[in-house]
Amino acid sequence: MSTIINANHYQVFIGNDTFIQLDKFLAKHYSGRKIFVLVDEHTRALCLPLISERIPVLQSAVVLEIKSGEENKSLETAQQLWSQLTALDAGRRSLLINLGGGVVGDVGGFVASTFVRGINFINIPTTLLAMVDASTGGKNGINFSGLKNQVGTFTRPDAVFISPSFLKTLPENELRSGFAEVIKHALIADKEKWEEIRQIENFSDVNWVKLISHSVMIKNKIVNADFKDRTIRRTLNFGHTIGHALESYSLAHHVTPLKHGEAIAIGMIGELFLSSKMKDFPVQEANEITSFILKSFNYLSPEADTAEIVKLIHSDKKNEMSRLNFVLLEGIGRPVINQFPGEQMTAEAVEYAIHQFKAVVDHY
Ligand code: NAD
Repeated sequence: MSTIINANHYQVFIGNDTFIQLDKFLAKHYSGRKIFVLVDEHTRALCLPLISERIPVLQSAVVLEIKSGEENKSLETAQQLWSQLTALDAGRRSLLINLGGGVVGDVGGFVASTFVRGINFINIPTTLLAMVDASTGGKNGINFSGLKNQVGTFTRPDAVFISPSFLKTLPENELRSGFAEVIKHALIADKEKWEEIRQIENFSDVNWVKLISHSVMIKNKIVNADFKDRTIRRTLNFGHTIGHALESYSLAHHVTPLKHGEAIAIGMIGELFLSSKMKDFPVQEANEITSFILKSFNYLSPEADTAEIVKLIHSDKKNEMSRLNFVLLEGIGRPVINQFPGEQMTAEAVEYAIHQFKAVVDHY
């Protein structure tokens, strides 16, 4: 089974046979053009062989490698890639294929959209998180000055090819990290899907093509209505106001930093707490969702200084007139943007979320 989603100016191909579609796409649009493939050390070893052995044209592509890890979603990495592209004579007709997780996709998209004022790029996501979220929607960027995605562009890829076959080598905690965004998409847009997702006990039983397609469809519908993130697209930020602050904090303070989706999972618990306080989100339902998240991420024991987290939330891009701005839920599938809980309640929400995980650890 395979699905094609029209994403306003480009298409997203999802299925186990998307390599065939990729081969045809490259032959049709990029024959005779210089192709670069961006990887990190893991996707070079585990993912590149899967595509280059099936797509002959890629055997002559130039491979560019960056170091894996969120700390490398940086200006230094972008600079290194601009220099390499310059030295290798890349030009306006060149194509960059981003083969990797959200880090490769975000940096690669940023470099492609700025190099010589923009070259074409294609995303081939290899983590669940990048498949269900980061590879589509046209947001690219790097972290800067200790803040997530502080510098970047809104530029659409030429196409996205999603194949769950890459998930076979993905470590379990990375799979869970991506699962957080699957949960988020259901919570902001689809109560029925949430009822289905909460039954998932074992990833080996999941029909990935179906689950990923559903998540991409939700995101795509929202992005098509508000590409530049001024109104409804902000609903995709549910869990991210606290989540991004925790992720930045963790990156600066922890030896093993929280993964993006892990931070978002914690953020969703905090933002459900705020939703119950401010928007009458049913407390029992919030508790059920919280329990499901805790069960899925029971290996986490987040530590953070609440005052620092609140300070970091002050730099969130959604804020207006220095007021802390959240996306909350009135119910499952009913998000509301521009909610201002104030510092005190925000601090309570952060503490509540962190405490929930401590309670799980103490329980065992
Ligand atoms: P990641 O890119 O760091 O990948 C996680 C790890 O998995 C890395 O070590 C990577 O090398 C490895 N890996 C990738 N594919 C693999 C495979 N198939 N088998 C084995 N190992 C593999 O992290 P991520 O979770 O994919 O992405 C997180 C990033 O995405 C964050 O920077 C976040 O801000 C960004 N993001 C962007 C958007 C967007 O709209 N642009 C949306 C959500 C998240």
